[in-house]
Amino acid sequence: MRFSAVIVAGGSGRRAGGAKQWRSLAGKAVARWSVEACLWAGADDIILVIPAGDERLAEMALAGLSGWRAVAGGSERRDSVLQGLAALKCDPDAIVLIHDAARPLLSSRVISELLVASSEADGAVPALPIADTLKRIDSPGGDVATISRAGLWRAQTPQAFRRRVIEAAYAAWPADEVPTDEASVVERAGGHIVLTPGDPKLLKLTYPEDFEMVEALAGGARLTRTGLGFDAHRFGPGDGVWLCGLHIPHDQKLIGHSDADAGLHALTDAILGAIAEGDIGDHFPPSDPRWKGVDSAVFLKHAVQLVTSRGGRLLNVDLTLICEQPKIKPHREAMRERLAVLLGLPLGAVSVKATTTEAMGFTGRGEGLAAQAIVSVETPA
Ligand code: MG
Repeated sequence: MRFSAVIVAGGSGRRAGGAKQWRSLAGKAVARWSVEACLWAGADDIILVIPAGDERLAEMALAGLSGWRAVAGGSERRDSVLQGLAALKCDPDAIVLIHDAARPLLSSRVISELLVASSEADGAVPALPIADTLKRIDSPGGDVATISRAGLWRAQTPQAFRRRVIEAAYAAWPADEVPTDEASVVERAGGHIVLTPGDPKLLKLTYPEDFEMVEALAGGARLTRTGLGFDAHRFGPGDGVWLCGLHIPHDQKLIGHSDADAGLHALTDAILGAIAEGDIGDHFPPSDPRWKGVDSAVFLKHAVQLVTSRGGRLLNVDLTLICEQPKIKPHREAMRERLAVLLGLPLGAVSVKATTTEAMGFTGRGEGLAAQAIVSVETPA
């Protein structure tokens, strides 16, 4: 499901000791964690609401990511949320997630449960049951009373609403009251809110010591995904083939709309597969004259860019070239080096192998050449 997101990163962070949204948490800025999670879960449009004057800090913190814009927030959280909502491009029925950047360890699982639940209610909120016994003291040094935790939940963010529902509810909210979350605004307007399973890792950075705890949990907030690619091209009259971005002298060439580099095509499809982004033909239709005779490195770099622009990174690739001729082995190291440059990977993460099919099938008869690739990608969870 598609959605938009407003991420409030506007706090001055008095309690957490400084502007926590730009602080590094396990190697990247606090605010970046949430933006990457939303991109990964399929956000169309992300508004990051920041303190006025922090634009440069936001650009540095989110360098390389696509699909986000920053707007300056107001003095109260409510004002910041309204500024963020006003900046969205989505239509009134679209679902908007409203999130606090101070909860960095947001997972796709939490988002997808919110999207499903909010499509059938006026809003959805991730919440956790309370395990501890609750005590109440009405005055300092006063008597301690135990209160029942039955029916009590801890609400987290993001919270999900249709855009028109949250905007109308805020319009009806009394100007002199400060809501503690968006769900309470919709509740007051008579809306029906549902709870979805929260995540204990989705902690809010409130006090300086929280950084250590969230940092310790951050390692589990990344996933490894794999993708598979296959391609084949036919031989025709010519004087060499393009393979893995190199021109290999041969008594034939490979026929195709682009440069017919089956190695780069298999790798491109494997990367697209790892991030569920369709296949090479979706991104570069053979019917489009722009791609005629083009260097297939363009396709591969595009796929890599799709991974990095939403906060993922390539871990390794393994490519098998299947043909009788030309002989691959003399070119294998040069191919690995070329691929390492195109993919931005160390040489040790780039494998090129070759095999024949023992004279069987289309590769065995020398009609064409095939390539098979597998890749691993690390992404937000
Ligand atoms: Mg191809």
